[in-house]
Amino acid sequence: MSKSALITGITGQDGSYLAEHLVSLGYEVHGLIRGQNNPRAAIVRRIVPELHLIEGDLHDQSSLISALEATHPDEVYNLGAISFVALSFKQAINTGEITGLGVTRMLDAIRVVNPKIRFYQASSSEMFGKVRETPQTELTPFHPRSPYGVAKVYGHYITVNYRESYGMFAVSGILFNHESPRRGLEFVSRKITDGVARIKLGLETELRLGNIDSLRDWGFAGDYVRAMHLMLQQEEPDDFVVATGETHSVRELLELAFGQVGLRWQDHVVVDERFLRPADVAMLVGDAGKARSVLGWQPTVSFPELVARMVESDLRAVAADLTANSAATPR
Ligand code: GDP
Repeated sequence: MSKSALITGITGQDGSYLAEHLVSLGYEVHGLIRGQNNPRAAIVRRIVPELHLIEGDLHDQSSLISALEATHPDEVYNLGAISFVALSFKQAINTGEITGLGVTRMLDAIRVVNPKIRFYQASSSEMFGKVRETPQTELTPFHPRSPYGVAKVYGHYITVNYRESYGMFAVSGILFNHESPRRGLEFVSRKITDGVARIKLGLETELRLGNIDSLRDWGFAGDYVRAMHLMLQQEEPDDFVVATGETHSVRELLELAFGQVGLRWQDHVVVDERFLRPADVAMLVGDAGKARSVLGWQPTVSFPELVARMVESDLRAVAADLTANSAATPR
């Protein structure tokens, strides 16, 4: 019998990579989708044609219960969240509702419908925030620096609590930043690679950014979804850090991305205080030693390779848009 999985946050970057991975392993994959005529449904359907979409909302407990009853999953992956840190400062309460309380709604729905369902919570390196030690491990104390980070800490601990209180197989993956050509344009990696493509192809001349001194441990999303799946295949539920173990600055990302198309970032990047955050996380770097030894997981894409793939993909996408627009222009 093939296994079945339900993924929240299916229209996000990780949702599509995880769905592809689980389909390749023979799973029947269901994605929870919010709202009528959600325009992102078509995009994820195109990427993963085998996917089944079911309506539901992390705001709405009964919709989660109905989704579990309809899909009978063996595994639930909770990737749904308000995940953009800058937005979480503007919508702090909504972030608490979805990114934080949404986790409890799903855990409680599982407890009621079938407590044997295995549950994965997408925890985040943003929980470490103002880091207490370097590198960060599963045992490093949390000190979040944004409403997003605070909500993720709540989600993390409620997952531990349901595991300890009800004996549920509920685990958290503390994933460091992970990127890909499918990353949303609001995140700095994709904002830069898309900006590089637009500047190179003559559509724009400048790229406005915030704090370019930040250091992050950036990996490839396709690698990270394999770790999510592995965590749910263990004999005992446990939490894992997933990271590359390297840290790089936004400046280095700029250097690589602009360098790839023969441009100097200093000629195009403008620091704009609109993109500064009320509080930021200066530096993150994870120690994924436990994931390596227990799960047998390791990343396969280096930082320069990741940036190169994203720049190439954005060059293709922007060029295709240009061609489509010029074809549509009446002569
Ligand atoms: P985060 O680590 O989850 O906040 O991922 P982001 O990709 O949104 O941001 C990574 C870092 O890049 C943060 O320290 C941001 O402050 C910094 N950064 C600098 N300029 C920008 C910008 O224009 N957009 C975003 N998203 N981040 C920026």
